[in-house]
Amino acid sequence: MKERKIEIMEVCPRDGWQNLPDVIPLEKKKQYIDHMLASGLKYMQICSFVNPKVIPQMADAQEVTRYFLEKYPDRCFNALIPNLRGAQTAVDCGLREVSFVVSASESHNMANVKRTIAQSLAALDEICEKLPQLDVTLSIATSFGCPFEGAVPPEKVLEMVRHGVDIGITKVELADTIGVGDPMQVYELFRAVKERYPQLQLLAHMHDTRNNGVANSFAAALAGADVIHGALGGLGGCPFAPGASGNTATEDLVFLMEKSGFRTGIDFPKLLEAAKEMRAEVPGNYSGHQIMIQSVPTGA
Ligand code: ZN
Repeated sequence: MKERKIEIMEVCPRDGWQNLPDVIPLEKKKQYIDHMLASGLKYMQICSFVNPKVIPQMADAQEVTRYFLEKYPDRCFNALIPNLRGAQTAVDCGLREVSFVVSASESHNMANVKRTIAQSLAALDEICEKLPQLDVTLSIATSFGCPFEGAVPPEKVLEMVRHGVDIGITKVELADTIGVGDPMQVYELFRAVKERYPQLQLLAHMHDTRNNGVANSFAAALAGADVIHGALGGLGGCPFAPGASGNTATEDLVFLMEKSGFRTGIDFPKLLEAAKEMRAEVPGNYSGHQIMIQSVPTGA
């Protein structure tokens, strides 16, 4: 089998934890993140810099970020930001990478960040101009469907990607924010972006609302995505999709990728141990499978 490489980015500390009703104490956050990183994960979205009144779970985001930047200088940490203020906070904490989130559908962007798409893109322009040292990923939410508007035209997503390319963005994330995409749709949109902009690094963020998260992530990988997002245990949810089980479980992703010949550099048993620990201690919506099967390579 041909060996391919894929990067897995762990997003549980941001996307998994942000919807939990109870705030995880700082020391527990450190423990869970330590155990995630012990599996060999290189990339992690560690927090978002947003209004703590809206998302209290992120009130200690600066502390968490500073702590792990110092402890693991060899890993890549990233924060989700919706505006210039968040980007500035990221820089002040010492982060070099952020993901700027904007939705491909107007109503979701308004519900999520209280701005029109044009206003969000203007903020992105300003961030790139004022903070040129930051490596900014353009994260396009609702790329495969919107909870308010339904289908999202691929042309709309491509138009936003073009805006990013025009201002010098080199990384683009296509997100299935509510988990309504299907593998063919995902494959085709990723291919369309890849064909137009082969130089871009592409990231996939697939929610697992209907058990399609792993299949959609795999379709993105086959279409040429470089980085796939997962959340430990499949923890997550979406305020605009009540009852949704949330993110694609990193352990399920790693298992499938390794079985299919994609090398992730992640130790599956260690990752599963971290998932089991968190599931035992943190109540939430989990979509992952906790089965231990010793049929994938361990370690890098
Ligand atoms: Zn998400």
